[in-house]
Amino acid sequence: MATPVVDPDLCTGCELCVDIAPNTFEMNDEGVSTVVDPEGDDEGAIQEAIDSCPAEAISWAE
Ligand code: SF4
Repeated sequence: MATPVVDPDLCTGCELCVDIAPNTFEMNDEGVSTVVDPEGDDEGAIQEAIDSCPAEAISWAE
């Protein structure tokens, strides 16, 4: 199963991925997006978050 991962060094904290896939991504205390549930949203929504991330900080990990 592919799992989305956020590179915390690249994330700028724009919160776009949280808006698009709110059950998958959550902002942590440091203002960086983290994956709280890799299957929280359907794959299409997660892919949209990946494609929309301006920092290209999200990717699929096998
Ligand atoms: S869309 Fe990208 S840069 Fe914005 S909060 Fe999510 S991971 Fe970070």
